Amino acid sequence: MPVLEQIAVEIAAAPGRGTPADYIPALATTDPRQFGMAVAELDGTVYGVGDWETPFSAQSITKVFTLALCLSMEGEGLWEHVGREPSGNPFNSLVQLEYENGIPRNPFINAGALVVTDRLHSLTGDASGTLRDFLRVESGNPDLDFDEQVWASETANGDRNAALAHFMASYHNIANPVPVLLDEYFHQCAIEASCADLARAAGFLARHGIGAEGDILLTRSQAKQINAVMLTCGTYDAAGDFAYRVGLPGKSGVGGGIIAVVPGHCTLCVWGPGLDERGNSVSGVAALDRFTTLTGLSVF
Ligand code: GLN
Repeated sequence: MPVLEQIAVEIAAAPGRGTPADYIPALATTDPRQFGMAVAELDGTVYGVGDWETPFSAQSITKVFTLALCLSMEGEGLWEHVGREPSGNPFNSLVQLEYENGIPRNPFINAGALVVTDRLHSLTGDASGTLRDFLRVESGNPDLDFDEQVWASETANGDRNAALAHFMASYHNIANPVPVLLDEYFHQCAIEASCADLARAAGFLARHGIGAEGDILLTRSQAKQINAVMLTCGTYDAAGDFAYRVGLPGKSGVGGGIIAVVPGHCTLCVWGPGLDERGNSVSGVAALDRFTTLTGLSVF
C-alpha cells in the first residue's frame, strides 16, 4: 500500500516522538524510534509498514475487547455499572468516582475497565483467559499471549489501580475480591500483540459485529455502540482532539498502540512507543491523521 509507505517516510522525518510510559517500568526502556502500521481489510488481509509485525504491550487497547465480550454476554445491564460519557480526565483519575458514587464515566478509563473486567470474570470465571482466547481466534495468531514481565511490573506498581478498585468496591460496584480482579486486569493489560494481530482482531468492529470465522459476536447495533464509545472516549481526555484530527473511532494504550475502525471498510493499528502527556502515541496519532487525510476514509 503506497499510502502506508508515504506515512512511514513522513513519520521517520518528523521531529519529536514523545516518551515511553515510565510508570510501568517494563515499558520505560522501549525504543521510541520504533514505528509500525497495519491495515486489515474485512476479509482479514493485512498490509503493513515498518515494525508492523513486532509484538508490543497492548495495554488499554484490550479494554475494547473486554467490553465487546461483556456486552455480548450481559447486554444493556452492563450500563448500570459503568457509564458511556467522556470523562475529560486522565485515564487513571480518581476524582470523578466519589461524586458519581463509584460508577465510572466510561469503560475505556481504568476505573471503567476494572468494572468490565470484574463483570467478565464473574460471567466466565477467567476474564483474562477468555480475552486471550478471543484475541487468538480473532487475530488468527494462536501464539498471542501475556507478557509476564509487563504483568509483574504492573503488579509491583499497581497502587493507583488498586485504589480505584477498592474505592469502587466500597460502593459495591466490584463483585470479586480486589486482589483477584487486579490480577485479571494486569494480565489483560499485559497482552502482547503486533499491529497485524490487533488490526485483524478488531475486524469485527468494521464488519458490524461479525467475527473472523463468520460468527455473530455482536449485534450490528452493539458494534455501532462500541465504535461510538471509542470515538467519544477511546483516547481519554484527548478524545475531542483525536476525533478532530483522525475522524475515526479509536482506542489507545500506554504501550504506544492505537487501533482505529473504518466501519464497513477496514481496521487499522499503529504503534509508536513515545507518548504525549495524555498517554497517546505521538507518532500513532500523527500517522492516523495522515491516513485519513490522504485516503479520505473517515466516518465524517
Ligand atoms: N495498564 C495500564 C494502567 O492500568 C493501562 C493504561 C493505558 O493503557 N492507558 O495504568
